Amino acid sequence: MQGRSKEVESRATPAESITPPTEGSNGASVRKVWQHRHLLDLDTLSMDELELLLKTAETMQGVLQRDVKKVPTLRGRVIITLFYEASTRTRMGFEMAGKLLSADVINITVGSSSVVKGETLLDTILTLQASTADVIVIRHGDSGAPYMAARVLTHTSVVNAGDGAHAHPTQGLLDLFTVQKQLGSLTGRKIVLVGDIAYSRVARSDLWGFTRMGAQVVLCAPPTLLPWDLLNGRTECQGHPFSSVEIEPDLRKAARDADVVMALRLQQERQQAERIPSLREYARYWQVNEEVLSLAKPNALVMHPGPMNEGVEISSSVAHGAQSVVEQQVSNGLAVRMAVLYLLGAPREQ
Ligand code: ASP
Repeated sequence: MQGRSKEVESRATPAESITPPTEGSNGASVRKVWQHRHLLDLDTLSMDELELLLKTAETMQGVLQRDVKKVPTLRGRVIITLFYEASTRTRMGFEMAGKLLSADVINITVGSSSVVKGETLLDTILTLQASTADVIVIRHGDSGAPYMAARVLTHTSVVNAGDGAHAHPTQGLLDLFTVQKQLGSLTGRKIVLVGDIAYSRVARSDLWGFTRMGAQVVLCAPPTLLPWDLLNGRTECQGHPFSSVEIEPDLRKAARDADVVMALRLQQERQQAERIPSLREYARYWQVNEEVLSLAKPNALVMHPGPMNEGVEISSSVAHGAQSVVEQQVSNGLAVRMAVLYLLGAPREQ
């Protein structure tokens, strides 16, 4: 009898919708705080908007803890994922997020689409818009591809799921969300990003997000793998979020008293020339291992956006050790992608 009432209770859950935040941290209504049709990077988002996204992700995490995780919020909406590059977490995260919000989700694999017949990105996205897509989630090897899509689409939202070495905003958001959940707040936290920062779209989006939220970011990499183009005088510009960024190529110094150490994969698919003498030498100086971690704060978090090359940028024992939150990053990614799809895809009140 008790078992039956539990079943009835959990069957009733999908009928309830979610109660996402109705106002931003400054008390303004969500629709006033959130005015974007697209999510292309974190650089254009204010602290209020980032906080709203994190608050909405928190609500979504509540949904994910229910017995029945599906809610009708995006019923009747169509989400298309269009991936020109390989992906496990991001693609699965968006597909799952859309389905749990009851949208119809269609995944397009470039290898089996008209792209192989020579169709351009422009024609492909216009075709998807014409076929009533409400949101298109794009991953593309060329930096700027989602921006081009956003410029030409008149009534479809675009989410950048990674463009070349430029940006990966939902990974940036899930990294903010993970640190906030684990440490309570981002303000003043020392966050060390280690490795191939120049070619990592994750690090670039993280840099905007963490600095905007008041964290103290330290970039640690060989000089050939630092993002000089992005920093470009901004670290000296008073009042710019990057003015607090530190550069410390010596990992043993950078890791000292860190709250978070994030290792990054060498993006060899994007490097046009050799940037490091050898993998062995790189690992010797820039691998996040137990010795490096012992220099950070006692309960410092170890993060990695995945996929990991264990033994290169991170040792296996640290990657799977007690301080690693790599798996939490993946599950937080689902809540964050639900929040993004909700804010972009839910019907607007008139
Ligand atoms: N999965 C992340 C990305 O697509 C990180 C990586 O591939 O190293 O950028």
